[in-house]
Amino acid sequence: MRRLLTFTLLLVFAMPHSERLAAFLHSVEHKTGKKVYVLQVQDDAGLSHGGVGSLGIYALMRPGASDEEVAHEVLHGELNLEGFVATRAANPYAATMPLAGLLSANLQDFVIHPILDRRARSVGFPQNHVAISHATEFRQQLLSIAGTVNEADRLMVAANAMGIAEVLQRGYDPSHDLQTLSSEKLPKALALSEKLLQQFPPLLAITPEQSFARAKSILAFLDHETTKLAGNPPSQFLRIVNPLIEPPLDAQRERVIRQAFLGDK
Ligand SMILES: [Zn+2]
Repeated sequence: MRRLLTFTLLLVFAMPHSERLAAFLHSVEHKTGKKVYVLQVQDDAGLSHGGVGSLGIYALMRPGASDEEVAHEVLHGELNLEGFVATRAANPYAATMPLAGLLSANLQDFVIHPILDRRARSVGFPQNHVAISHATEFRQQLLSIAGTVNEADRLMVAANAMGIAEVLQRGYDPSHDLQTLSSEKLPKALALSEKLLQQFPPLLAITPEQSFARAKSILAFLDHETTKLAGNPPSQFLRIVNPLIEPPLDAQRERVIRQAFLGDK
């Protein structure tokens, strides 16, 4: 059965998947007691996204996503249900919200991906190709920057540093030039990310509580390390980005999915 819905931002339909993936999804449903929805989504961001909502676990996938990528997003939902940290921007300054959002997303990935990658491997969906494609996308973003970024804003430097650190900690750099490119385009963010990786090497086995402590320590570290830079807002990063157990799924996506599957108006 395939239901189709179009909206300005989203195109949603149930995604066909392999038997191997179907077995995995079933095991997650059995383990968590929640239904798992794997949906193909086309939105303006063009990114895959996993989380928990009122219906169950969602994996919102961009077209052409592999089984490994679907497993990745489903595991984000599973870890979220288990109480691992999910960070969220709570920045009251609208103008800097995109940077706060980027910082929260990158921070969450930095803390969660080592745990998630290990779990994915243990259930038969190794994340090597996912990590390589993330690194390649990140490289494309770096290449698209003309010249060097004016890194005057501490929130920007922190958000980019988390992004660089997230890619570097996974250890996949197919073109062997991510550090060189980062040093050309985002020198302050790279320096901060290297310091961060020394201070916070990847942790594979941590409890949900420890994942919160880690996210908070990283925010405090970023705050401390960027005090010399200017930036709006001047408040602490812990007040801008909240480590939460909260579904990262936004209200609009949730509404569209409910409409597609429950006929909600
Ligand atoms: Zn992820």
